[in-house]
Amino acid sequence: MEPLFPPHASAVQLERLNALFERQQQAFRRERFPTAVMRRANLQKLEQALLDNMEQLVAAVKSDFGHRSAVETRFMEIFPSVAEIREARRHVASWMKPRRAGVSFWFTPATNQVVPQPLGVVGIIVPWNYPIFLALGPLVAALAAGNRVMIKMSESTPHTGEALAALLAAHFDEDHVAVIHGGVDVAQAFSSKPFDHMLFTGSTQVGKHVMRAAADHLTPVTLELGGKSPVLISPDFPINTAAERILWGKTVNAGQTCVAPDYVMLPYRKEQEFVEQAKAAVARFFPTLAANEDYTAIIDARHHQRLMSYLEDAQAKGATIIPLNPANESLAGTGKIAPTLVLNATSDMLVMQQEIFGPILPVLTYRDMQESILYINDHPRPLALYYFDHHPSRVRKVVRETISGGVTVNDVVIHVGQGDLPFGGVGPSGMGHYHGKYGFDTFSKQKGVMYQSRLNTLWMLYPPYGKLAKWV
Ligand code: NAD
Repeated sequence: MEPLFPPHASAVQLERLNALFERQQQAFRRERFPTAVMRRANLQKLEQALLDNMEQLVAAVKSDFGHRSAVETRFMEIFPSVAEIREARRHVASWMKPRRAGVSFWFTPATNQVVPQPLGVVGIIVPWNYPIFLALGPLVAALAAGNRVMIKMSESTPHTGEALAALLAAHFDEDHVAVIHGGVDVAQAFSSKPFDHMLFTGSTQVGKHVMRAAADHLTPVTLELGGKSPVLISPDFPINTAAERILWGKTVNAGQTCVAPDYVMLPYRKEQEFVEQAKAAVARFFPTLAANEDYTAIIDARHHQRLMSYLEDAQAKGATIIPLNPANESLAGTGKIAPTLVLNATSDMLVMQQEIFGPILPVLTYRDMQESILYINDHPRPLALYYFDHHPSRVRKVVRETISGGVTVNDVVIHVGQGDLPFGGVGPSGMGHYHGKYGFDTFSKQKGVMYQSRLNTLWMLYPPYGKLAKWV
């Protein structure tokens, strides 16, 4: 098989990277910052292009995944990107406005302002799992903030990369928005450029390389990383409702979602009921799996193999594996893996050590819910946490006593789609935020500006200090 990015392609991309970076820097220095009208026009152009090319993008993602549900691409990638664009178009003029700030008493009648300004050339590194939304979400924020943008697409989504590059090239000059393709060598060169800000979405491990490379130029980074997002179900929450919502979040994009529920903790008496309800939910969602258009495949053979090895490891160490395969079909050759529950999972199993990033769901039980909160707090801080409970004071307690990038109460995943909530991890699941105004702020310099008044009250502090020595 031909390598996706043969060496000569890398050389071309490295040359493009260097030339385009130079061009974008020059353009940023020479041209005036875009006005609100220009930014809105750019965002509108992007929205229209996205809507006009929706089917090409859906097809491109499908070929990268082997199979990806068209509805999932529209619902999880295109519509959230359009929502981000609309939010930015609606508010960018007010986000850009200089804001009055207070003046310390001794300095009155001077005045203060905070003036948001573009940073310059922004680099965005994109993973493969939602290649459109994770390229366009940051792009929208960076454009709203008035920057130039270079995007490095994932080597695992070459078709989507090409489709997105063509769409952007048709509407933006490359000194404004440019797309780079390539594997690890190109990615390393990309992250070594002296960007004015870099937003990386990907694994925690690669995030460390990106931050190290950025440190050489003191490039600020926003890291959107992964981790194991737990689900905790309170003792009296209806299991059928929880199971249905959790299994939706675990099977959308076949669990290849950074905020997918990674494992579930529920009262020990409810385990069997959860298994039955999970089976029923999957049977409702996907009566069949193999040829089902709605059920997405695993991105490639390497990840398929990785997930199967988690199941083999868990089984060898004593876990009970329950595939939820309603028609009992063979999935060989489809690239798909059936949604699978893992009971009796223990901490020595890969499935409890690694981010799963696939349709496998370990189900743990507790006798005392406080133990589960301790378990969560004893493990690396997750990107998301899900808590199912209708009891307000217990909900407040869990939200207050746990640390995670974000929380959805009584559902999973959906906090990510809220334009007015900051999205980002904490500790090993990431740093910094974007979405809506949080994205605009991430890609802006908040410049503090002080305007001295005609009446200078500071003359009293000028030397000679003789008389002042009595007071100061
Ligand atoms: P990855 O870290 O392997 O790759 C991400 C990107 O980094 C790719 O474009 C890749 O080419 C590039 N890259 C690879 N090596 C590099 C290096 N040494 N220096 C610079 N860049 C390099 O991640 P992936 O497999 O594409 O995506 C899956 C991971 O992403 C999961 O851990 C998931 O949780 C995480 N993720 C996080 C979010 C979020 O918003 N927090 C969203 C989606 C995915």
